[in-house]
Amino acid sequence: MDIHEYEVGLHKGELDTPALLVNLDAIERNIQRMADFSRAHRVNLRPHAKIHKATPILAWMQLRAGAIGITASKLSEAEVLASAGIRDILIANQVVGARKIRRLVNLAAYTDLIVAVDSIDNVLEISRAAHEKRTTVGVLVEVNIGNERCGVEPFATTRDFVQSILPLPGIRFRGVMGYDGHLAFVENLEERHTRSQAAYRILNETRDLLLHLGSFELRRGVEVMHVLKEKNRILGVRTRDVATGEELEVLADCTVGDDGVHSVVRKACGIEIKTQMVPLDLLCFGFDWPSSLPFATARIWMNLKGLGSGILGLVAIPAGVGKGAGLVPVRPKIFNANPNVTESWTQLCSMDAVIHEVIQDRKFPQDFVRIRRPWGHAPRYGTEGAVLIGDAAHPVSPAGGQGANMSVADACVLAELALRNEPNLLAEYERRRRPANKRSIGPTRVAVSVWSLPEWCSPASFFLSMVRWVGRHPSLMRRAIRSFSTRFQEKIN
Ligand SMILES: Cc1cc2nc3c(=O)[nH]c(=O)nc-3n(C[C@H](O)[C@H](O)[C@H](O)COP(=O)(O)OP(=O)(O)OC[C@H]3O[C@@H](n4cnc5c(N)ncnc54)[C@H](O)[C@@H]3O)c2cc1C
Repeated sequence: MDIHEYEVGLHKGELDTPALLVNLDAIERNIQRMADFSRAHRVNLRPHAKIHKATPILAWMQLRAGAIGITASKLSEAEVLASAGIRDILIANQVVGARKIRRLVNLAAYTDLIVAVDSIDNVLEISRAAHEKRTTVGVLVEVNIGNERCGVEPFATTRDFVQSILPLPGIRFRGVMGYDGHLAFVENLEERHTRSQAAYRILNETRDLLLHLGSFELRRGVEVMHVLKEKNRILGVRTRDVATGEELEVLADCTVGDDGVHSVVRKACGIEIKTQMVPLDLLCFGFDWPSSLPFATARIWMNLKGLGSGILGLVAIPAGVGKGAGLVPVRPKIFNANPNVTESWTQLCSMDAVIHEVIQDRKFPQDFVRIRRPWGHAPRYGTEGAVLIGDAAHPVSPAGGQGANMSVADACVLAELALRNEPNLLAEYERRRRPANKRSIGPTRVAVSVWSLPEWCSPASFFLSMVRWVGRHPSLMRRAIRSFSTRFQEKIN
């Protein structure tokens, strides 16, 4: 119960006003219907909070039903949502003026914030403030699709606008948006539909123009067969179309090795990484997310009674659209030698009825994909004509858990440097990314040293009682989470 407990059961005439009253069945039905509709049409949904006046509990219900984030009309609405723990927020409006921009940038430090922009001066102000605060604000360029209220003019004007803001620090271009609000009062539905389609055609054609900005060619379904070299310089790659077998040479000033832990580009660069194996194997599988498990929340079952068997537990991670990914961490040595492993598995599965819904009729261990992960840090992030990003430069263990973030951060810095034609691309990229990546790999070392303790010295009981103790002290928990999260933030020297 909460602080409004005393209001439960009151007659509506006895309520203080203003009071928001909702028909819960109808609201749940509507939220679900909208989520199902979007899923069926394969579009992402970011509902507008002004419909429910940024009522956080309703926003959370929309997120739980599958919305990718929440839209707000103004800064103060976004602040209300953020203080209720909502992280992915779009302000579908321009925020102007020094004071408001200070608030905007502050909010961006705590959230994944996107704001609509349509003026260079405004973007420059946001960029300066964000850069000073060492944060990043996502910007969505609003295009005027006929509303004549705000927005950059479409086509070439938007293209030039985007090109001029791309190199700015402190902001990240997140796309374009348009609003056909001028058609809201067209009463004839057929006319409204036709005119609305024409308006969005303007937006789509502008988007297509932007996609050709970098004059790049996107090829899917190709495999890199060889890296082309001339002495020590990488010239490009030879690819093979997986479907047709057709081979093609792709030459480039700079080849980006984003091909993961076994990178062929890294090998061609002659860069060796001293890797270590994570002393933990992962048995992985995919499953349909059971309705009895809360949506969008990972679930962990520790195998406390059977740790000695080598099976440490089971993790169920939501993977979107009704699917989940399952992981069973096992200690390789004990696991191989233990004849009672099936018994321990059965014991783990009987801990909770939901586990059967997750595992279904999979046989242990043969129906699981076994992953062994090496981890390390390359001594160089590239060579003449090539740059390495992500796992190719710094394979991480799943215990680190931040590899995807590191890869994206690498890619963003590289793109930023390339867009401003940085003359010392490799050196500057390494200067910016190496310290942050080094810090991110840190916890993995800690995890590995804990796992490397002798087998008889099970860390689980000590570790668990520590977690439980911290969990009982919210301020300590907050401090622990903050210190972990700030550890991974990039510090630019
Ligand atoms: C079980 C597990 C759990 C994890 N959990 C998390 C987590 O919770 N959070 C997190 O941030 N990170 C996590 N990670 C780490 C994260 O997945 C990686 O660090 C991240 O995916 C690395 O991204 P990448 O793009 O560098 O490499 P990859 O994601 O490995 O992508 C490389 C791509 O290149 C392709 N490729 C390779 N060779 C060729 C070739 N010759 N031609 C064409 N294509 C090629 C591969 O098929 C692959 O698609 C986890 C990893 C594992 C294994």
